[in-house]
Amino acid sequence: MDPIGLYIHFPFCQRKCNYCDFNSFSGKHHHIEAYLKGLIQEISLYSREVNKRPVKSIFIGGGTPSLMEAKQANDLLVAIDKAFNLQPDIEITLEGNPGTLNSEKLNGYRRAGINRLSMGLQACQQGLLEKLGRIHTYQDFIRNLQEARRQGFENINVDLMMGLPGQYLKDWQWTLEEITALDIPHISAYSLIWEEGTSFHKLLMENQLQQMEEGLELEMFHYTMSFLREKGYEHYEISNYALEGYRCKHNIIYWKNQNYLGLGAGAHSCINGRRFSNEANLEAYIKKVHRGENIIIEDMILTREDEISETMFLGLRMLEGINQDDFVKRFGKSPVDIYGRVLTDLEKRGLLELSKERVKLTPKGLDLGNLVFSEMIIDQSSEK
Ligand code: SF4
Repeated sequence: MDPIGLYIHFPFCQRKCNYCDFNSFSGKHHHIEAYLKGLIQEISLYSREVNKRPVKSIFIGGGTPSLMEAKQANDLLVAIDKAFNLQPDIEITLEGNPGTLNSEKLNGYRRAGINRLSMGLQACQQGLLEKLGRIHTYQDFIRNLQEARRQGFENINVDLMMGLPGQYLKDWQWTLEEITALDIPHISAYSLIWEEGTSFHKLLMENQLQQMEEGLELEMFHYTMSFLREKGYEHYEISNYALEGYRCKHNIIYWKNQNYLGLGAGAHSCINGRRFSNEANLEAYIKKVHRGENIIIEDMILTREDEISETMFLGLRMLEGINQDDFVKRFGKSPVDIYGRVLTDLEKRGLLELSKERVKLTPKGLDLGNLVFSEMIIDQSSEK
């Protein structure tokens, strides 16, 4: 059995950030205990179903998993260890908000087996942090980074955001300078997405906030690529950069369209050609899981076309692109056999590079990734 990745969702936050549309809730901490018990119940259900399936990565995301006490994180990992077969070199990531970490928690997380810390910083400027609705300062981040290192964490990611309202190119440049000076081995640099239903989106609609001009955002992206490469980072996925040996194993599972199981409220899974997702409503998830009721609300068998499309548009997010041999092994045909002129046209337009070994985005394709990805969607009738 191929090893899988395990995603554990912890949907509690101290305060909802102004740009966030994740399945996360503030003011519901009184449900944490019941939720964690429910999660352990869900894990034990899988212990019968998956029969000790090998696991190569665990990602505890949210929400704000660092709201968990060390003992709670430990209990969760003990339950996972009982149900699954954790590989010796497993990567276990916990997402931490710098406003909720402390030395005791960091020490306990490390002792529980967590070996990668992903810190949501977003920006170094206090004004931007406040605008985003973050609960921490840059100094909180520095303090917790130092403490995390003292407790033995060396595999650390920092999430940063560009394209923020009121953010200047010099703010972004200073943020990258600060973070690289701290020798952080992994950086995720995302562009802000104005998701409907968020406070930011509402303010945008009311003309109280303005979107960054597209040219400036592109300039920030280009600056990020050249600056981080110069500092020795490998740009391995559109928004992700790593020093050697620090690529995120868990996210690579998603980009390679491999099997993963998501546990917790609203978590998605894609395993053995089946995609399903859990009840996202917190109270309903807790109620159902405690009663032993079905918590899966969406469940579908993927068609071959779904799997091909997803393998292409997720795989192209990685700068190394799609390995032709692996693709043929999986689908019996090469990408060119399947997509025909769609791929060769993209190549002619300078967006894709096609070689015997790989299909990958060109530098121009990186700027226009969404356009390329949209061309990768196929339905049954369009496969050659
Ligand atoms: S801490 Fe993370 S999950 Fe929670 S509201 Fe902010 S961005 Fe969303």
